[in-house]
Amino acid sequence: MSLPPFPVRLIAARPLTPTVRELVFERVDGAPVVYEAGQWISLDIPQPSGTVVRRAYSIASAPGCAIPGDDARVPHRFELAVTHVEGGPGSTALHAMAVGTVLDAIGPQGFFVRREQHPSLFVATGSGLTPLRSMVRDALARGERSPMHVLCGVRTPEERLYAEEFEALAATLPHFRATYTLSRGADDWAGPRGYVQTHVRALYEELAADPAREAPHVYICGLQKMVSAVRDVLRKEMDLPRQVVHSERYD
Ligand SMILES: Cc1cc2nc3c(=O)[nH]c(=O)nc-3n(C[C@H](O)[C@H](O)[C@H](O)COP(=O)(O)OP(=O)(O)OC[C@H]3O[C@@H](n4cnc5c(N)ncnc54)[C@H](O)[C@@H]3O)c2cc1C
Repeated sequence: MSLPPFPVRLIAARPLTPTVRELVFERVDGAPVVYEAGQWISLDIPQPSGTVVRRAYSIASAPGCAIPGDDARVPHRFELAVTHVEGGPGSTALHAMAVGTVLDAIGPQGFFVRREQHPSLFVATGSGLTPLRSMVRDALARGERSPMHVLCGVRTPEERLYAEEFEALAATLPHFRATYTLSRGADDWAGPRGYVQTHVRALYEELAADPAREAPHVYICGLQKMVSAVRDVLRKEMDLPRQVVHSERYD
């Protein structure tokens, strides 16, 4: 079934890291953008040549742009976080796009969603964090108390997407934590190092240690190589059932 496109306007944008730009869109007709945390939306992105390219982006905001601890909702708005891919037509145009630009969106859609409350480990690299941020904000805005731990792999400290936001949440919510692991350089970095897959087992076992709670679920998002490596640890090495391992790939 093909979904009808609807026009959206870019109403705000800012750099989140040196390579990731946040873009805030609103439906031009003011109708709500109905989605579940974790879903993605397609954009028809105009090119300098006059053509358009269609690309998918996970929605980074919680439905209604819900913010933990705040009852306000903006149902016709959604946020994206886009990594600039060198030479990539879609992401290059989105990084250069002027506020006020109107383009077509299609969706939202996708099955990478979190419908139940359970202890959760969220694993991402780079902008794979966007649907996981939506799930976390949605759960916290609804007052969920399940333990939640975000594990995000980045190359350098400057690339720690949403670090300030997650640190602020972790400072006030004892059931929420975020860990960033660095794959490169930075001599003064005292935190974890190495690829996300090297930390997944320990963090999962920590979440699973409470016998009063059900088995934790894992939500993984990013490029195929990382998603496969993390799935291998969870499914092949740890023998976790398929039902607790959820993933989304960007390539
Ligand atoms: C379901 C889904 C959700 C997505 N959500 C996001 C999102 O929230 N944010 C986002 O930045 N991208 C996201 N993407 C990727 C996005 O659709 C584009 O592929 C990306 O913006 C590159 O498009 P391009 O035209 O610039 O480059 P292209 O010339 O199309 O280059 C594509 C290549 O870029 C690489 N690539 C794709 N995405 C990324 C990325 N995020 N980081 C690093 N390298 C990448 C891959 O190797 C891929 O083969 C998503 C993809 C899918 C399928």
